[in-house]
Amino acid sequence: MHTLKKFIPYYSPYKAVFFLDLICAAAISLIDLAYPQILRTMTRTVFAGEPSAILKALLPIGLAMLFMYIIQGLCKYYVSYQGHMMGANMERDMRQQLFDHYEKLSFSYYDQNNSGQMMSKLVSDLFDISEMAHHGPENLFISLIKIIGSFVFLFLINWRLAVPLLALVFFMVLFSYSQNRRMQATFMDNRQKIGEINSSLQDTLAGIRVVQSFANEEIEREKFGRSNENFLRSKDANYRCMGSFMSGNLFFQGLMYLVTLVFGGWLIARGQMEVADLAMYALYIGIFISPIQILVELTEMMQKGLSGFRRFLAVVETEPDIVDAPDAKPLENVKGTVEYDKVSFHYSDDDTLVLSNVSFQIEAGKSVALVGPSGSGKTTICSLLPRFYDVTGGSVRIDGQDIRELTLESLRNQIGLVQQDVYLFCGTIRENIAYGKPGASMKEIEDAARKANIHDFIMSLPDGYDSFVGERGTRLSGGQKQRISIARVFLKNPPILILDEATSALDNESERWIQHSLEELAKNRTTITIAHRLSTIRNADEILVVADTGIVERGTHEELLAMNGIYAHYNEMA
Ligand code: ADP
Ligand code: MG
Repeated sequence: MHTLKKFIPYYSPYKAVFFLDLICAAAISLIDLAYPQILRTMTRTVFAGEPSAILKALLPIGLAMLFMYIIQGLCKYYVSYQGHMMGANMERDMRQQLFDHYEKLSFSYYDQNNSGQMMSKLVSDLFDISEMAHHGPENLFISLIKIIGSFVFLFLINWRLAVPLLALVFFMVLFSYSQNRRMQATFMDNRQKIGEINSSLQDTLAGIRVVQSFANEEIEREKFGRSNENFLRSKDANYRCMGSFMSGNLFFQGLMYLVTLVFGGWLIARGQMEVADLAMYALYIGIFISPIQILVELTEMMQKGLSGFRRFLAVVETEPDIVDAPDAKPLENVKGTVEYDKVSFHYSDDDTLVLSNVSFQIEAGKSVALVGPSGSGKTTICSLLPRFYDVTGGSVRIDGQDIRELTLESLRNQIGLVQQDVYLFCGTIRENIAYGKPGASMKEIEDAARKANIHDFIMSLPDGYDSFVGERGTRLSGGQKQRISIARVFLKNPPILILDEATSALDNESERWIQHSLEELAKNRTTITIAHRLSTIRNADEILVVADTGIVERGTHEELLAMNGIYAHYNEMA
């Protein structure tokens, strides 16, 4: 009920369509209900008269019926087209809302949720929701009108025959409902089993070289065969249920015809029913029998739709951890002083402190380098500056302002980030560089590429800046990708820069090249560098050695060597 209440607002942009859809649905059902009535009237009065009177009546009745069915056809068109479109529109709205929300959710959310899995699940959830949105009210309406309408007429015409039919309907609903539940459960099982087949296949194909090099084809074959066999068994259960659902319903329908004929015949013999009414009874059975099945299936459809909607709500109602404070100010005229003041931090899924009492300061335009064993918290320190995560104690300030008092957008606009992993979007090289500054001119893009030492390479490609990258595009080496990502940051031109092991995935040759571009990039910017190679940070204004949740040594290269501590030890090993 609670969920349903939240669902209703999604109809509000389509109120007009929704009500017209219901009106059309009602018209379709009412017109269906009319035919047996017309037939009954005709057989009882008109056909009983003179042949000439019959002939005279046929034309007006024929025309009236033609008009009726034209209306019904139009209504059906509206329901099938606009009704479905309403569902599709609502699905679009929700999908957009979902996407917008995904973009807002914080890093901590993505640490804990597998986005790929979530996305694919939500595709099928949204489909279920859209089906429910459109078919739910409409089918409920059509079915109820047909069933109730039929029985009102049946009772009016002859209540004696209507009573046993109503009893049969009752048992049929019970039967259909239980069968349908079982059937839907087997459908779910089918879905799961086909999922298992797919993942088994994907796993084997992805690892086919390993499979073949170990000559383990037979083992994989057996594993796959098992999933394949399981799917067949699941199908077997599914078809069995479907068979009994369908045959049971057909049998109930037959029983109704039987009761109508035998009991109705008996009533006719006793003079308690007219012959014309018998035919009409048979026609009404044809009208209300399929709505009963639809109604039964509807309960399942609603359940599926609502549980899909609940999963949808679970995502869109998750508040992002990191949002603008109500009175957030934009970060403007940045000089670029960065200050970490007694910062402590732990990730939300884990209470152990990653950082405790970390303090350091970088003057505008100066550089700090972080060194330390892997897992000591260097990347974490950097993640706090663009507020990918918020500190759990202390504060981080830029130009003296706590970054939590700034708008996220303005904060992140002032920070450039180059990491070890580069993500290039599907698209051209030009688009990928322009990502650093949407709307940048071609000249700006080329300038950035030149500064990143990638312009000549790009020009050597047949399509130049319009060459595609990404899955089916030009294959780029790690170094080339890294240079594109550096060009992005040149284009963005931020006063503050974070370089997180930007060269550690590269070979020596590329590293030297890129080191040069990075030094160029760091000029006149406040820079935090995490280096895996000490030689690249020798000239940093200050070097911080991070270990055991905090800074254990600090100073310039020479000072640290003189201290003869951890850094000096590293230096000897390098
Ligand atoms: P470094 O960059 O120095 O190698 P990190 O800052 O990446 O170290 O990691 C510091 C510690 O925080 C590690 O113990 C790591 O396991 C943990 N950690 C890193 N990222 C996350 C995360 N997203 N969620 C939970 N723990 C994390
Ligand atoms: Mg790291």
